[in-house]
Amino acid sequence: MWRAKEKSNTIQLSFKYRIYPTREAEEKLLRVMEIEAKVYNALLDAVNNARKERKKITPKDTQAMLKDLKIEGKELVYSKVPQMVNNQLWYNINALHELKKKGKKAGKLRYKKIMKTINYNQSGFKVQGDRLVLSKIGEVKVLFHRPLEGEVTGVIIKRGATGWYAIFQVEVEKKPLEKTGKVVGIDLGVEKLVTTSDGIVIENPRVFDKVEGKIKILQRSLTRKKRGSRNYEKTRKKLVKLHEHVKNLMSDYIHKVTSWLVEQYDEIYMEGLDVKEMVENNESKTLRKHILHSNFSKFMSYLSYKAERAGRRVVKVNPAYTSRTCARCGYVKKDLTLDDRIFVCPKCGWVADRDYNASLNIFHAGSGLPLKPVDRKPLLYIPFSEGVYSKFPGRSRKSPSRGGDAPSVRAG
Ligand SMILES: [Zn+2]
Repeated sequence: MWRAKEKSNTIQLSFKYRIYPTREAEEKLLRVMEIEAKVYNALLDAVNNARKERKKITPKDTQAMLKDLKIEGKELVYSKVPQMVNNQLWYNINALHELKKKGKKAGKLRYKKIMKTINYNQSGFKVQGDRLVLSKIGEVKVLFHRPLEGEVTGVIIKRGATGWYAIFQVEVEKKPLEKTGKVVGIDLGVEKLVTTSDGIVIENPRVFDKVEGKIKILQRSLTRKKRGSRNYEKTRKKLVKLHEHVKNLMSDYIHKVTSWLVEQYDEIYMEGLDVKEMVENNESKTLRKHILHSNFSKFMSYLSYKAERAGRRVVKVNPAYTSRTCARCGYVKKDLTLDDRIFVCPKCGWVADRDYNASLNIFHAGSGLPLKPVDRKPLLYIPFSEGVYSKFPGRSRKSPSRGGDAPSVRAG
């Protein structure tokens, strides 16, 4: 997962990679997570007790308790890790408080048997080639499926359903790109991932369609198995792996598309979409909805941090009527339905691909420039395939990665 936060001349990102601890290292990691849970529970106790006695207690107070906390095996944990456990506890306390403030039903914080993460903040870790050296754990192999950039300020070790991950918190310098003098409106969609106002269509890969059958079979077989049995676990792991595979493919693709957009255009206009609504309008199934949802938000987050880093602008425009308005004469066609893939204007006779028409309206709304649609027929269609990057206009396989984060190795 990548997250972007603005901060003067640098930008903070996270890079997530799979890691492969040896059995010995894995045992140590699990042990640390158990000890972390004991620390967490002890601090939670302290908070609960203080509140029972109506005494004020702050994160600083619990932090100060760490030193004298008597917990078996504490010496097996890197000294700064318990501080992050304290932060986690207070994060949870505040989240619960927020829920209650909103009038939501929220119970009490629960005690933990094991924590899911180990947070090395600022120190206690080192990257050496394809290995991560963790204090009190040792060396762990990392699969760097895309290059790690920037200055690493922290590493979070996470135990997932199918394995282990390291999430690197990094600070990278902003790298402004030279102006290209080009601006663009883009329409995001389900059929086509992106349609640009220059008439370029980027396919939404049907990765999920291909594996959907497989997923259904596995799910059916899972419901027939006894929960917790060895066969159940085996099937469940297969299922999680398949989902992960689809997710990785999509992430990789979205990285390529957003890098390309940021390289090509000084300003990018897009709809300030309520992703949820957009997906729900589409009568898709729950699982599919979920995947689409995460892809659109991914697209927006990748695009915005890359633009931010490259000194480009992403401008969100009001999504009202972008599909229903004729890009040539401005006529609003109220009866346009989702099934109408072609926009035909009853007033001026303009005929265009529905999404292309929308992208022109988005371009107009964002740039304020007059509507001057060109009859671009056919649209330049870019299918999803291996080496798709070289097919983008203005891009060649050899051109170096500038500004974006085009991975040199495929995820998978
Ligand atoms: Zn018209």
